[in-house]
Amino acid sequence: MLVDNEKTQTEIHVRKIQRPRDYQQICIYKDVNPLEWEDWRWQLKHRISTKEELSQVIKLTPEEEKGIEKATGRLSMAITPYWATLIDPDDPSCPLRRQAVPTSAESIASAHEMIDPLAEDRDSPAPHLVHRYPDRVLLLATDHCGMYCRHCTRRRLVGEHPQEPEQENNPVSKFDAAIEYIKSNKKIRDVLISGGDPFMLEDEAIENLLQKIRSISHVEFLRIGTRVPVTIPQRITEKLVNTLKKYSPVWLSIHFNHPKEITRRCKIACDMLSDAGIPLGSQTVLLKGINDRPYLMKKLMHELVKIRVRPYYIYQCDPVKGTQHFRTPVATGINIIEKLRGHTSGYAIPTYVIDGPGGGGKIPVGPNYVLSQAKGKYVLRNYKGKIYTYLE
Ligand SMILES: *Cc1c(COP(=O)(O)O)cnc(C)c1O
Ligand code: SF4
Repeated sequence: MLVDNEKTQTEIHVRKIQRPRDYQQICIYKDVNPLEWEDWRWQLKHRISTKEELSQVIKLTPEEEKGIEKATGRLSMAITPYWATLIDPDDPSCPLRRQAVPTSAESIASAHEMIDPLAEDRDSPAPHLVHRYPDRVLLLATDHCGMYCRHCTRRRLVGEHPQEPEQENNPVSKFDAAIEYIKSNKKIRDVLISGGDPFMLEDEAIENLLQKIRSISHVEFLRIGTRVPVTIPQRITEKLVNTLKKYSPVWLSIHFNHPKEITRRCKIACDMLSDAGIPLGSQTVLLKGINDRPYLMKKLMHELVKIRVRPYYIYQCDPVKGTQHFRTPVATGINIIEKLRGHTSGYAIPTYVIDGPGGGGKIPVGPNYVLSQAKGKYVLRNYKGKIYTYLE
């Protein structure tokens, strides 16, 4: 009964929050014309970064006010006007609000938390490159993003820092050593471009980078990790899509955390990419009070499949300094997978992983279906808990 009750409440919650506000109803945007609104540069330029601006859009709590003041420098607050329309102005527990608005909880440093929990800086053979697995590398193409997520694993790198010279759009020299390293290492067949958000670079810089990497004969395919279709979908322009198409196969991994993020506008961006033959996958960070209920996670996965995004990973929230308030027990993640496998389409089930602290790479964690194993005999259980014996 309790479970049913909870489900109904969540259903109502999901239904209630799915409609974003029309931007013209928000006083500071009422005179913005639709062409400006649809321009990604306008969206970037008008990101909300101060308490004063944000308080015109939502009613701030004291914890948020304190959090915004402290979050300057790395990972300062930056909320696109588009994202602002998705935030519930009256509910501090709104899942989209909690991902974007800093709170005083970020200043708490807890046991086990680290600055660089995945030891990416240690496993870096060239600037901006992380080489952990034998056949693939991670290239950190920029440290800017459309919006800054409060749970970011790379908060040591990511954010606006105007003191540093703007060489973002001149990747020629910046990535030379990384590209030389990839060229000289014939085992690398897969290059994952991430950041920050690679789509914060100008189209020409993106093209330049893709062209350079694709011209290395042993690189079989490229992947780009992005959150832009979710935080600033206006960035997915026809020109960008055509560039990506030109360097096919390029796959995209898009960071989605909540069904409310899948708006009509976001769907348009994803459709443009899919229609151009770019395969889309999702990455989700398990976040306490945001997406840690099995029903909600299932809803997210269903919505993703509907917009042709294949669920790829659910990540345990990494032990980065100042993120304890987002972290759930591991059992929460395992239980989510338990509630998905068998209960819904296999295509809607991502792999739950913990990135091994200290640089262990992604380690899958999930329910145990093998009850015992003896010579020639496996005792298994299915999703309903029924027991089966498989003889080899
Ligand atoms: C996540 C990651 C990859 C890609 O891993 P896949 O499981 O192939 O998606 C590669 N290198 C590093 C350092 C990573 O963190
Ligand atoms: S988009 Fe990714 S890299 Fe950027 S702040 Fe969010 S989690 Fe961090």
